[in-house]
Amino acid sequence: MHDGRPGGSGEAGATWALIAAAGSGERLGIDRPKAFAALGGRPLLAESLDRLDRCELVDAVVVAAPPGWEEPAILLAEELAATKVVACVTGGATRADSVAAAFAEVPEEALVVVVHDAARPLLDDAVLERLLVPLGEGYDGAVPVLPVADTLKRVDRGVVVETVAREGLAVSQTPQAFVASTLRRALSEDMSDATDCAMLVERAGGRIAAVEGDPRLLKVTTQADLRLAELLLAASTA
Ligand code: C5P
Repeated sequence: MHDGRPGGSGEAGATWALIAAAGSGERLGIDRPKAFAALGGRPLLAESLDRLDRCELVDAVVVAAPPGWEEPAILLAEELAATKVVACVTGGATRADSVAAAFAEVPEEALVVVVHDAARPLLDDAVLERLLVPLGEGYDGAVPVLPVADTLKRVDRGVVVETVAREGLAVSQTPQAFVASTLRRALSEDMSDATDCAMLVERAGGRIAAVEGDPRLLKVTTQADLRLAELLLAASTA
């Protein structure tokens, strides 16, 4: 595991943010991992890295970079003068493996861990504020959710099998916040089918609060998503 220390204090703060940035992003069709796709003139990763580093609620940041892209991630943190970045580790084969690799840098004394996808660049402090409230009320974790607006169909080989009632369903986003000790335990279980961290904590019997998500926290998967994120970014800085 690469363990670059790009200048962070390394002191154990109360709230640690882990950025999962190690995906290949094949569906973008570019010559580099998704975290290094250009968004508004800088790498996609820069957006969430900068925002988490500047957020007063966050004390330390760990990045899980794609294999071979650890140095560019460290250089990016230096360029951004991201002083809270204490480590940049090599990500794993799955998102859960990447989160576990980043979590290995979190000290025992940490109280809260926030896990965020680099693929969701438009992170606002208000979402983090909403997430931390339930943790103070005894929840094990919190996720931002959006209501499902479309009608849902179960489809099998091009044929609609059923219409799924959307009542009570929500779309979950990142960042997701957890009591550090709870996430530590959840990450030690079988993670092979986990698509997000909350799923691991739920499975271990943890209570997860759902707070209001943010439509701007869209996940960049395709070139069209990248263009939309660029437009939203330009609108927010105009
Ligand atoms: O692939 P997808 O966009 O669903 O991944 C969500 C997030 O998880 C992305 O920010 C991606 O970089 C990250 N990821 C990771 N390690 C992997 C796969 C995905 O950090 N092996």
